[in-house]
Amino acid sequence: MATLRVTPKPAVALMKAAQVPKPGADFEMVERPIPAPDAGQVRIQVRACGICHSDVLVKEGVFPWIQYPRVPGHEVAGVVDKVGAGVSAWKTGQRVGVGWHGGHDGTCRECRRGDFRNCRNVKVTGMSYDGGYQEYMVAPVEALVPIPDSLSDVDAAPLLDAGITTYNALRNSGAMPGDLVAVQGIGGLGHLGVQFANKFGYRVAAIGRGPENAELAKKLGAHVYIDSHATNAAEKLQELGGARVIIATAPNSKAMSALIDGLGPNGKLVVIGASLDAIEVTPSQLIFGSKTIQGWAAGTPAASEDTLNFCVLTGVRPMIETYPLEKAAEAYARMLSGKAEFRVVLTM
Ligand SMILES: [Zn+2]
Repeated sequence: MATLRVTPKPAVALMKAAQVPKPGADFEMVERPIPAPDAGQVRIQVRACGICHSDVLVKEGVFPWIQYPRVPGHEVAGVVDKVGAGVSAWKTGQRVGVGWHGGHDGTCRECRRGDFRNCRNVKVTGMSYDGGYQEYMVAPVEALVPIPDSLSDVDAAPLLDAGITTYNALRNSGAMPGDLVAVQGIGGLGHLGVQFANKFGYRVAAIGRGPENAELAKKLGAHVYIDSHATNAAEKLQELGGARVIIATAPNSKAMSALIDGLGPNGKLVVIGASLDAIEVTPSQLIFGSKTIQGWAAGTPAASEDTLNFCVLTGVRPMIETYPLEKAAEAYARMLSGKAEFRVVLTM
């Protein structure tokens, strides 16, 4: 009698992921095969992933080049779980993070000049490829950041975008110790910006809407709190001598426009809050006093490493609310509400 031989299918290990099935659609929790790292990549067992306002760009499909379904998340902290071919500098079991900068080609003109942040083919984590709203992800080695032992996963995660963005924007802003630096918005980015600005030795003015964050802003290191509902914040900044730098963190272009007249001579408005509507400014507002408006996006993994080390050195930490991965939709809604204090972080 012939024996029917059935070749068993290899068992595919599955993981949980929160994906956006198509632009504008609700999150869905799905089971997906655990991905394998290709050459030059590692697989990360994700332990924490911060939810950033710019995840809206994925959720709502703002960029036509994003492919769906897509798993967002560019504030990833975890452990190297498997290394791909040719990877020698990163080891299984090593704690690593991945931030906004998800990779660069190493060959374009900017890369050849060492300006990896502005690579012509820069990859954004959670946009160009699946990010951290899942139990495992793969990332190219040039996107990896080592996490210091003394930083927890949930603290490290928000520092890999909200942290590096404010830290890097401030340290490249041209402001010197003692200069008046204003931080607009006391939220996911701003509450870190105030701490960094204080540790950098600036005279720190925190600008929030309403009186409720005054006490907290001072605790975080603000020397002055300006309630933009109760007072004209630009006038208040001029009373203080005019800001050398204003870091605009809250994604509110109207509020940013209203602050431009708070800049002092050679003052710079550094825009890091990603909003989709226009900032309004007249040429004469910029011409008299040689003022500038500059955008800033995060930085390289090396700059993220600097950020994490600086936080260990100085005690700067994010204030967070944690949600399990399964509640990604609720956590995302919490971030959108603007009521989170201050960074919403998924845990796995
Ligand atoms: Zn490049």
